[in-house]
Amino acid sequence: MAATIQPVLFVSHGAPTLALDPGAWGAALQAWAGELRGVKAIVMFSAHWESPGAVKVMAAARPETLHDFGGFPEALYRMQYPAPGDPELAARVVALLRAAGMPAEPDPDRPLDHGAWVPLRSAFPAAGIPVVQVSMPVPRTPRQLFDLGRALAPLRREGVLIMGSGGIVHNLRLLDWAGNSAPDAWALGFEHWVADRLEGPDPAPLFAAAKAPSYAMAVPTSEHFDPLYFAVGAADGAPVRTVFDGWQHGSLSLRIWSWDTAETVPATHS
Ligand code: ZN
Repeated sequence: MAATIQPVLFVSHGAPTLALDPGAWGAALQAWAGELRGVKAIVMFSAHWESPGAVKVMAAARPETLHDFGGFPEALYRMQYPAPGDPELAARVVALLRAAGMPAEPDPDRPLDHGAWVPLRSAFPAAGIPVVQVSMPVPRTPRQLFDLGRALAPLRREGVLIMGSGGIVHNLRLLDWAGNSAPDAWALGFEHWVADRLEGPDPAPLFAAAKAPSYAMAVPTSEHFDPLYFAVGAADGAPVRTVFDGWQHGSLSLRIWSWDTAETVPATHS
């Protein structure tokens, strides 16, 4: 039987309160995950793990759940996402990155941060699929992150789902906590600018996002935007589609994109 080449997902994880009230965003993630077949493990690239120098790769067999946020309801701090790690896959990720000329090392103590577990909880509530997180190096360029994703793209042929978790418009200073107001024109405009460049065959125009109108407002710091470059690299030219389009608190985009490869791979005998 042929196996599927697993897709790549970019998920905007919004505010941590999505874990308590995932709404239509969570339903979209669950529906998307429900269509997947043969996912053996997940490689997750979250906005909430940056490491100076080398790329770090979570190598814990039983990663803990990190509650890396402040000032939210108590119930959020009690949530756990007990998915196993996958030290063998972690070693393979380190090897692939080193082979591509990128310094990488395993991190046996890294827990799952909320950029990883909040969307995973909605997509895979049973927490049965092993997860390996990969850090964002500091400093970094869009091209480096793209290359990092591309170096891991072969894993998609081995049942590994690759996910980037961050945000396209992610301005915490402009949040309207009073309600879920409609996004401003500048926020919509920036997201459209990005979406248009994802449709094209050449990723290079996306690398100039810092020059796009309203970039400074949409992306006050780059860590939430940067996982997109990683996802585009891992997608390796597959066509993009929107899985969810929504907004939270006026200036948090909840956009989710998936890149799906129609091709399948022949089964291997193991
Ligand atoms: Zn975040």
